[in-house]
Amino acid sequence: MAVSPLVVHPTDALQNPLQNARSVSSPLKNASSAQASSNGTPLPTQVAPNAAAAIQTASLDLAEQLNEEEKRKYVKGKKLGEGTYANVYLGFLRGDSSQLVAIKKIKIQKEYTEGMAPDAVREIKHLQELSHPNIITLHSVFSSKDQNLNLVLEYLPLGDLEMLIRDTDRVKYGAADIKAWMGMLTRAVWFCHENFVLHRDIKPNNLLIAADGEVKLADFGLARSFSDPYKPMTANVITRWYRPPELLFGAKHYSGVVDVWSVGLVFAELVIRTPYIAGDSEMHQINLICQAIGTPTEENWPGVTKLPDYTVEKEVVPLRGRDHYMAMFGTVGYEGVDLLMKTLTLDPKKRITALEMLKHGWWHKDPKPTRNRDLPRKSGGQSQEKLGADLKRRPGVVDEDRGSKVSRKLDFGAAQ
Ligand code: AMP
Repeated sequence: MAVSPLVVHPTDALQNPLQNARSVSSPLKNASSAQASSNGTPLPTQVAPNAAAAIQTASLDLAEQLNEEEKRKYVKGKKLGEGTYANVYLGFLRGDSSQLVAIKKIKIQKEYTEGMAPDAVREIKHLQELSHPNIITLHSVFSSKDQNLNLVLEYLPLGDLEMLIRDTDRVKYGAADIKAWMGMLTRAVWFCHENFVLHRDIKPNNLLIAADGEVKLADFGLARSFSDPYKPMTANVITRWYRPPELLFGAKHYSGVVDVWSVGLVFAELVIRTPYIAGDSEMHQINLICQAIGTPTEENWPGVTKLPDYTVEKEVVPLRGRDHYMAMFGTVGYEGVDLLMKTLTLDPKKRITALEMLKHGWWHKDPKPTRNRDLPRKSGGQSQEKLGADLKRRPGVVDEDRGSKVSRKLDFGAAQ
């Protein structure tokens, strides 16, 4: 049976006892806003100073108590990895050590002493809104010692797509596997865009793999909402190798197809098992795009020369034809190459959207996408059971500092 990439698998989030990201942020949010309003009405201004102070203390106590309860639900274990703005630890539910989680502890950033680091705010805000089998689940959020923020995320034990791509000696895969991974990635991106969220950092290293082989889009630290088309956005997003030409030329208004370009480059990389356009500076990246795809000009992209940072070398490289792509990426077949070319279209107005990608004919052509359980896995990984047992032997606690200061009041609703 052909697997339609439009099929969205039922999420297990509702049955999952850990799934309470919404309930975590909302009680804290309510608690923090309670001093202004318990029913949406602003408090009268003439509240006696003592009464106002008492209300404030009560609401802080409630926020602290809720935070404490949330924190106590989890036990933190060994470090799993380190990102730019967080350390990630393995953890489990205190009442059930077989329920593993990843606890992402946001590093204190000196420049944000007055508030939360924007990456963390973005990650929480967007992950709270997005519940999809191909997007990492945010189970909970709590603050710990020194008001450190901790994100409790779904634990994804099988590494990421980058590990599989790079391990050419031990990991063998073919067109059916690529189709399965690309289907999962495209559904995740389509779902983000349906919900007006741009991810803005799609790359193999942000595509984590669950125990059942499901690929999950992670790291929403650069994500933002794009519901207002007139609002300018920063062009300085997306890891350079996966950054589309409109951002390299400094466009301030862009859409979901910036992510589609990155998806196209992940597709290319899955096939050739090395990054397709890997510049070592922005100018170099533009030059490599010109070489690999063709020089952006007014003929193939009306208006491109008006973009703030438009610069290309004098010698114009004509757009590469289908034969060029077939020679390089032919293992995914004619239809696969057609889809790839549509994602790597220079002019964002002509580039395929995530929804159109899902309707492309490639998904229904042979070979069928590999079933999750048959997908290649990273070699030498520790089993989930083994990790669970290790954790049981060496339990840590999320935060020893019981007397920590008043917990940070969380209100992600207003964050950008
Ligand atoms: P990040 O800051 O999201 O890039 O995470 C840093 C590293 O921590 C990643 O490269 C992974 O090795 C690991 N990691 C992050 N999230 C998870 C997760 N949900 N499950 C397992 N490992 C993770």
